[in-house]
Amino acid sequence: MQIASMHFKERAHDNMGNAQLQGNLQKIKGKFVAKRRASLFELDDVEATREAARAIRQRALDRLDVWLEIFERNAKARGATVLWAETPDEVNEHVLDIAKRHGVRKTIKSKSMVSEESALDRAIEAAGGQVVETDLGEYILQINDYEPPSHIIGPALHKSKEEVSDLFAKVHGTPRKTGIAELCLEARGVLRAHYLTAEMGISGGNFFVAETGSVVLVTNEGNATLTTTLPKVHIAISGIEKIVPTLEDVATLMRLLPRSATGQSISNYVDVLTGVKGEGEFNGAEHMYFILVDAGRSGVLAGELREALRCIRCGACMNHCPVYQNIGGHSYGWVYPGPIGSILTPAYIGIEKALDLPQASTLCNQCGVVCPVKIPLPDLLRKLREQQFEGHMRPWHERAGLRAWSWLASRPALYAMATRIGVRLLSWMGGRERLIHRLPLGSGWTDGRDMPAPAGKTFRELAALRKKSRGER
Ligand code: SF4
Repeated sequence: MQIASMHFKERAHDNMGNAQLQGNLQKIKGKFVAKRRASLFELDDVEATREAARAIRQRALDRLDVWLEIFERNAKARGATVLWAETPDEVNEHVLDIAKRHGVRKTIKSKSMVSEESALDRAIEAAGGQVVETDLGEYILQINDYEPPSHIIGPALHKSKEEVSDLFAKVHGTPRKTGIAELCLEARGVLRAHYLTAEMGISGGNFFVAETGSVVLVTNEGNATLTTTLPKVHIAISGIEKIVPTLEDVATLMRLLPRSATGQSISNYVDVLTGVKGEGEFNGAEHMYFILVDAGRSGVLAGELREALRCIRCGACMNHCPVYQNIGGHSYGWVYPGPIGSILTPAYIGIEKALDLPQASTLCNQCGVVCPVKIPLPDLLRKLREQQFEGHMRPWHERAGLRAWSWLASRPALYAMATRIGVRLLSWMGGRERLIHRLPLGSGWTDGRDMPAPAGKTFRELAALRKKSRGER
């Protein structure tokens, strides 16, 4: 996928001013949040389950080399071929080789974010093959001239039903449908023919299980099941970090993944695929390949951001992020948006290409609180900010401002005086409306919205007044 993360500020600014997008984001805002909250109530002990999930993912990462070897051995024992890709380009090379070897003309795909990293669809087409995305969201984006995904579990969440209606009518050449069920039926009709005629299916992988050499796929549409079992060749592509030691570990993680992602206690389809189709078996691919992708992950594992690799791609951090909710996923400019994307993008493609992403957070810790595997997202963002500060990667005025703030904050009396002056000034700027329309040095804040004027007194002054009114000392 083309990297545009260096244009984060401009993209966020444009998206804030895009009325259609803002309307679409408003409609989904809070939907996932409420559903997640309700579904977690079903668990006896959410915190203990989160802790168990954290421990499982950490155990896998702590001995990743060993678990990967065990996975490779067990997958091979069941007839699969295991391939390794050090770079995104190597993923494409492997896929094209496999396609050539098996005489593949048409490929169907279920959702795979790793394949977005290498722009696999484009590579297949450039080599003369045909590729069809079967996840409804990915299909919508593909027929819209390969629009990039904006969310890791709902790639087309930024689009309204009306936009999809127009797109289907234009691309399929059918009368415009307006109901969601009708639109889904239309997509199903188009996709069914491809399932039956494709020679190769490509999937991602939610988990790769070391003890059995299996890939676990969690979906709601059933497209992954058809994609991986109808064609004669199946390729499962995943980052090396997706390994988990045992099926029992998967069972624990599955208590949290669908709940955190869509607020379901279980997804509609959970496929555990192990090896090639056996003697007398009806379902399954005749040739099964795993492509395990590094593409920057081993570097992250060796560094101070390693906890980010625990991610199970549930999307909860972006669903709860006030920044993501307002600027949408495309602003982030690469495959992974939201808080986890602001960590993974600089980690995978280089911090110099994603300078503003670690700043794209209020550090409110909503993301850290909801992450099912307890990734301390704000801490990792802060580590990236430190790297930028120490590496002189931020503009001089920002670094000077931080130095000035640090100097002031370590002198309590002076700090108290400066904040007293600051809040009074801001209060005065709010005028009768109590709204600040334009903030000097803070236009990024006030360009898209007004800032409520503060009370005109500092927190300490207000607390002291309150105590006094209660007669406390
Ligand atoms: S960082 Fe945590 S909350 Fe965000 S997608 Fe990954 S697992 Fe989910």
